[in-house]
Amino acid sequence: MKGHGTLEAVPDELSAADILRFLQTDDPAVIAHLYRTADRIRAEYVGDEIHIRALLNISNYCIRNCCYCGLRRDNRELVRYRMTADEIVAAARRAAAQGYRTIVLQSGEDPFFTEEIVCDIIAQIRSSCDIVITLSLGERNYQTLMRWFQEGARRYLLKYETSDPTLYQAIHPDMQFQDRIRMLENLKEIGYQTGTGIIVGLPGQTYASVADDILLFHKFDADMIACGPFIYNPKTPLCQTTPDRQRYIQPDAVSVYKVIALARIMTRDTLIPATTALRMITPRDGVRMAFQAGANVIMHNVTPQPYAALYEIYPQQAGVDQFPTREAFVSFLESATGRTVSHGYGDRRAVVEGKRRHPERQHVARP
Ligand code: SF4
Repeated sequence: MKGHGTLEAVPDELSAADILRFLQTDDPAVIAHLYRTADRIRAEYVGDEIHIRALLNISNYCIRNCCYCGLRRDNRELVRYRMTADEIVAAARRAAAQGYRTIVLQSGEDPFFTEEIVCDIIAQIRSSCDIVITLSLGERNYQTLMRWFQEGARRYLLKYETSDPTLYQAIHPDMQFQDRIRMLENLKEIGYQTGTGIIVGLPGQTYASVADDILLFHKFDADMIACGPFIYNPKTPLCQTTPDRQRYIQPDAVSVYKVIALARIMTRDTLIPATTALRMITPRDGVRMAFQAGANVIMHNVTPQPYAALYEIYPQQAGVDQFPTREAFVSFLESATGRTVSHGYGDRRAVVEGKRRHPERQHVARP
C-alpha cells in the first residue's frame, strides 16, 4: 500500500501495519474510501446477490461459561429450553417451503445433542426438503464432525472470537484457543465450508489484536466470517468497555464496518454476514451500511416462540428479526440495499469452483 488511505491499487494482502492504520483512523474520507474499495471487491468477486440463511436456535443450554454470553452455564436467571427433534425437522421443512436454501442449526454447547441425535435430525431434514444444513453446535470431536458431514451437513460455524490467546483465555475460563483452531482445521479437512469470526470491542481488545484476527481470516482461508460488536450483558461477569480509545478498539458500529471491509479486501470471495449483533446496535441503518462495506449474507431468525425470546446471548436480541415471513424480510432487504436476494444455496465461490486453499495445519494433527 502506498500510504495511509491510498487503496486505489489494492494489493492481495494488506500488512498488519496497513490494517492497523485503517482500524485506528477517524478520517471520514479514508473510512469512506475503505468502504468503497471493499464494496467494489465484493461486487467483483461475489456479485450483487444477498444470501439469506434461516437461523434456528435449537437449545439455549450450554456447558461452557464464556464471560460475555447470556447462555453461560452460571447464568441461573435464564429460562432454558431445548427443541425436540420433531420440532426441529418441522421448522426446517417450513423454512424450505418458504424459500430458504440454508438452515443454520445453532445451540449452546449442549451435550443432549449427541452424535446420534444430530445424525437422525440431519437425515430427516435431508430426506424431506431441499435445504443446505449448517451446524453451529460448539466444539465436537473429529469423529462426530465426520459423521455429521457424512450424514449430509455441509457447513459449520465456530467463531474464534479473538486470536489473542491471553484475552481468549481470560474470557473463556474452561477453554483453550489451540483447541478452537484445531477444530477449525479439522472442519476444513473433513470438507465443511467453515465459518469463523470475532467479537469487536471486547474489554481489553487492542487494535493490534484485531489486525491479527483479520490476518488470521486470510491465513485460515475461512469460507464465512462473522464480525459483531461486543454487547454488554448485565447477567454476565464481563465489564462494559475499556475506555482508552487510543489503544483499545471500541464496540461501535464503525469499528465493525471497518472489520467487515478489511475482511472483504483480504479474503475476496468469503461469505460475510451483516450480523444480528450489529443489527442490535444499529437498528436503523446497520444492514444498509454493512452491505455497503462488503457484506453479502444475512441471517433471519426462524426460531418459533416461545423459544426465540429465550436465546438471549445479550439482551433484547429477540427484537431484531421483526419480519414475520421470508417475503417481508426480502422486501426490507431489497429496499434497504438496492440489491437482490438470491434464490440459490449461497455456497462460497472458491468452494464451487474447487479453488479453496487448504493451509497447512498450525497445530498438532487431529486427535
Ligand atoms: S458463547 Fe457459545 S459456548 Fe460460550 S457460553 Fe455462549 S453459547 Fe456457550
